Amino acid sequence: MDAKETFSKEMLEEYRKSGMFGLWIAEEYGGLGGGITCLAMAFEELSRGCAGLALTPGTSALGAIPMYLAATKEQREKWCPDLASGKKLWAFALTEPEAGSDATALKTTAIKDGDFYVVNGTKHFISTGKEADFYTVAVNTNPSRGARGISLLVIEKGTPGFSFGKKEEKMGIRSNPTYELIFENVRVPKENLLGSEGRGLLYLQETLDYSRPGSLSRPWGIKWPNWPPRRKPAAR
Ligand SMILES: Cc1cc2nc3c(=O)[nH]c(=O)nc-3n(C[C@H](O)[C@H](O)[C@H](O)COP(=O)(O)OP(=O)(O)OC[C@H]3O[C@@H](n4cnc5c(N)ncnc54)[C@H](O)[C@@H]3O)c2cc1C
Repeated sequence: MDAKETFSKEMLEEYRKSGMFGLWIAEEYGGLGGGITCLAMAFEELSRGCAGLALTPGTSALGAIPMYLAATKEQREKWCPDLASGKKLWAFALTEPEAGSDATALKTTAIKDGDFYVVNGTKHFISTGKEADFYTVAVNTNPSRGARGISLLVIEKGTPGFSFGKKEEKMGIRSNPTYELIFENVRVPKENLLGSEGRGLLYLQETLDYSRPGSLSRPWGIKWPNWPPRRKPAAR
């Protein structure tokens, strides 16, 4: 799958059957209640075989963690069951061509127009790009306020004006696709705002705190494919 850049639908089905997508989510929202540590342990094991395959439930969790942290009860009830069952995949869209390590430099705007936000901009390096159903997108709803204008919107695939650009050629984790996302006058209902306007950076920092154990567990799984070592007892 890695060599051929195959995004495996069979593997998705296996994940769904095993409850992988809901491993970290509370039982009241349809998950298994395992939390972030449990998820990281699962990713480590999966990454011994194929880190790209581990990235798909990883990205779905990463995309959904800000929603889980900042959403209203109604939003959680609306999105969590399909997230936990794996019926709908999520992705996380923060990085832009000119905003990587310095996420506050992001240029994607979302300007309020009645009951909608009108989104314009480009994201790149987005994991599970094109395959995910929901994208948690970092936008600026008040560019004059700089980093204090950053907000998070959930944008559904298929919304008019939302398209996919370049697919990245990678040296690894190739069974998970990495895409550019393009937003051209995309009208997003105001109900898809997570938390409050202008507090996006705080939610993002909290999200990265939650997601880092999972991110680190993948290279750990790659690094130690045969851990713990099964050495033959030394000859006496
Ligand atoms: C395979 C892959 C999948 C990804 N998936 C996602 C995803 O799903 N969603 C998403 O939003 N993003 C994703 N990313 C983007 C990732 O988060 C960024 O690549 C990362 O934030 C770094 O940004 P950059 O690539 O623009 O590098 P830069 O920020 O340009 O950094 C380049 C180098 O400069 C160094 N550097 C930067 N600033 C400083 C400084 N002030 N002082 C000293 N050194 C500095 C960095 O450490 C780095 O070595 C993905 C990236 C990859 C490669």
